[in-house]
Amino acid sequence: MANTISRRGLIELGVAGASAALPLGGSAQAAPAPAPRPGKPYPDSEKLGFAVVGLGKLSQGQIIPGFKNARGAKLAAVVSGHPDKAHRIAAENGLPADAIYSYEDYDRIAHDPRIHVVYIVLPNSMHAEYTIRALKAGKHVLCEKPMATSIADAEAMIAAAKTADRKLMIAYRCHYEPTNLEAMRRLRSGALGRPRVVVTDMGRQATLSEPSDAWRLDMAMSGGGALADMGIYGINASRYLLNEEPVEVRAWASTDHSDPRFRTVEDLISWQFRFPSGAIGEGATGFSYAGTMAFRAYCEHGKLSADPGCFYGGNRLSVQDAQGDSPVRITEGDQFAREMDWMADVVRGRAPMVSPGEEGLQDMRLMKAIMDSVANNGAPVRTDWGYRRAFDPAAVVDPPRSA
Ligand code: NDP
Repeated sequence: MANTISRRGLIELGVAGASAALPLGGSAQAAPAPAPRPGKPYPDSEKLGFAVVGLGKLSQGQIIPGFKNARGAKLAAVVSGHPDKAHRIAAENGLPADAIYSYEDYDRIAHDPRIHVVYIVLPNSMHAEYTIRALKAGKHVLCEKPMATSIADAEAMIAAAKTADRKLMIAYRCHYEPTNLEAMRRLRSGALGRPRVVVTDMGRQATLSEPSDAWRLDMAMSGGGALADMGIYGINASRYLLNEEPVEVRAWASTDHSDPRFRTVEDLISWQFRFPSGAIGEGATGFSYAGTMAFRAYCEHGKLSADPGCFYGGNRLSVQDAQGDSPVRITEGDQFAREMDWMADVVRGRAPMVSPGEEGLQDMRLMKAIMDSVANNGAPVRTDWGYRRAFDPAAVVDPPRSA
């Protein structure tokens, strides 16, 4: 076991600041004319049209099926590098052939009035380019996590949304997921007393022969192994569970670099955040243990735990207090439909932007701080740069109530 991280790893996570910016290939292309903006751009009675970019595991397994459960969003187009696959998926979902785009002719979406929102579901290193191209085409963007592979790219995405006057939302599905929302509300209620320690554990086994893991194990494409893929859920959860932002972090990595999976990325990373209230946020992530997405909050008068807490379904929340141990019954629904409906409502001006680009940037900056600390053998790194979330999901997102 070696307890080190490569210089290349630091650069890809944005530690090297602006020098880590990836070339934004799309921005080099001729910018298409933005879509016209009539007075009332979105008919009240119709669902908004989404173009899904990248037809991989998440798109095929969760997102495209999710449209069937959405009330305000529908699949309007697909963007893919594989025409056979794209035609099959289009046919299965009742899309005409002219709703299929390649990466080369992607900018033509500017002239397609069926597309209101572009959902970026590509390898992380491609998020910035395809987000910026969509924004330049006059479309709103829902972009998968992690937002980008460098802080500079994340900042460029936010700037592009401002310039285009279009919405940029990061697909933090747990902000809209009933189990996580219920956990947030119970912590906010004070019934368990003040939260003192939040523990998050987000990891799984990564497999080099699995195409969707191969790029995750390549620092240039993923921006950082398990931390960028799974650990980001824990970083985000500790922030939304405590409803405050960390002021300091210490972190360590443990990686067997002789394992072919970990030639360019770290495996295990563990960190401790210190929050202004005095609470501690402990996080662990890794690509070498069985699938886990769990969190616990230890409070003055009890504890709350969710294991699993961030799966696509089957999450289980329980509360232990003076009255005993009680499972919380929650109606889950389709997380991806909820998230896409929220995006549609944001675009229509009916819902607040709970997970904007700035929220994704905060996690990018915290991942960089974690890797800075790892590089310095756990030395504390200040993270009190003043970020505050615009809206507390627990206060504004209204999921089905617990029974
Ligand atoms: P996949 O590898 O399964 O899919 C990515 C797709 O991107 C590919 O199928 C391909 O689609 C397209 N693509 C374009 N260029 C490349 C390239 N050079 N190498 C690989 N793929 C390419 O990944 P996932 O679907 O698992 O993840 C996609 C994104 O979604 C990631 O950012 C990930 O972090 C995020 N994610 C989020 C989850 C959540 O719960 N919110 C869960 C899982 C993933 P095509 O063949 O159509 O061109």
